Amino acid sequence: MSFTLDVDAARWRAHLAAFHDKTPGLVPVIKGNGYGLTNDTLATEAARLGVSQIAVGTYAEAPAALASFPGDVLVMSPWRPFLTDVVYDARLVHTLGRVADFADLRKVAPAGTRVNAEALTSMARHGLNRHAFAAAAAELDGLVLDGLAIHLPMAGANFAEAENLAAALQASRLETMTIYVSHLTDSELALLRAKRPELDIRPRIGTALWLGDRGALSVSASILDRHQVSRGERIGYRQRPMPRDGTLVIVSGGTAHGIGLEAPSAASGVRQRATSLAKGGLDAAGLALSPFVIGGKQRWFAEPPHMQASMLFLPRSVTPPEIGDMITAGVRFTTTHFDAITLA
Ligand SMILES: *Cc1c(COP(=O)(O)O)cnc(C)c1O
Repeated sequence: MSFTLDVDAARWRAHLAAFHDKTPGLVPVIKGNGYGLTNDTLATEAARLGVSQIAVGTYAEAPAALASFPGDVLVMSPWRPFLTDVVYDARLVHTLGRVADFADLRKVAPAGTRVNAEALTSMARHGLNRHAFAAAAAELDGLVLDGLAIHLPMAGANFAEAENLAAALQASRLETMTIYVSHLTDSELALLRAKRPELDIRPRIGTALWLGDRGALSVSASILDRHQVSRGERIGYRQRPMPRDGTLVIVSGGTAHGIGLEAPSAASGVRQRATSLAKGGLDAAGLALSPFVIGGKQRWFAEPPHMQASMLFLPRSVTPPEIGDMITAGVRFTTTHFDAITLA
């Protein structure tokens, strides 16, 4: 059973180094499933790049990050008094987004505990309203302020918002010149630096760094079995009739690997479905498109993916792969877990 990721290490590392060179102040984001590559692998690569700080999503991810990375670890989700897994460490930077949390953190954290103040942006997720910056500054008392964090949406007028918040920071009593920003483009970052050269701007980036050169990453799945089927023959857990004559192909990779969690891609609208029906499309027969590629095309699931394997339907016109062959799959890395990852 094998659903694997092979990383062309030289090519991937060349991309990481180039990205690091063009992104001053880079704070690599390492969270979740490690963008498919695992958090430990990413922390090792971040150390190799020589960055001073990495960012994790949650406190649950902090102990492993502190163990595998020698520098600072920023926890991006906000500290709350009710969290039960908070980690305190001289290398750890907390994020605070409510005035009351400053005083509550001081009660439980060692003196000198480092924090970012997070500003509320148009994301409307977490953070202080800019009018509360002064109240937050008054509550610091023994906490060390590392910077102001701003998390922007993926769409919208991000530059103007970042600039307004930078101005609000400089007018406030928050004594820091460091801004951690999420989701500004290269040109927006350059513009912000040019307009406010006194600020130390630190972009927090995951996807564009780790997954920015897809050509360095190859996904492989083994063909485990195959069977000829006739139109109307029933197969699988659900005993669905096959729409045509063809080949059933059993491939490694199922729901446990994140297969089937892709955004739905089969024809959806009534009219689209009708058009497809008229053309005899397999989506009209109730099949869903899989991420597995055979003969240069994504193929249809014969039934919903199983836990560790998937059943694909190939029409008779397509030469089926041999048992033991490897095929590729167009996966979404942030929801994929591989059986093995090789870096070579
Ligand atoms: C996940 C996350 C990032 C990184 O996002 P990418 O789109 O992967 O670069 C940055 N900032 C915050 C607050 C995040 O939660």
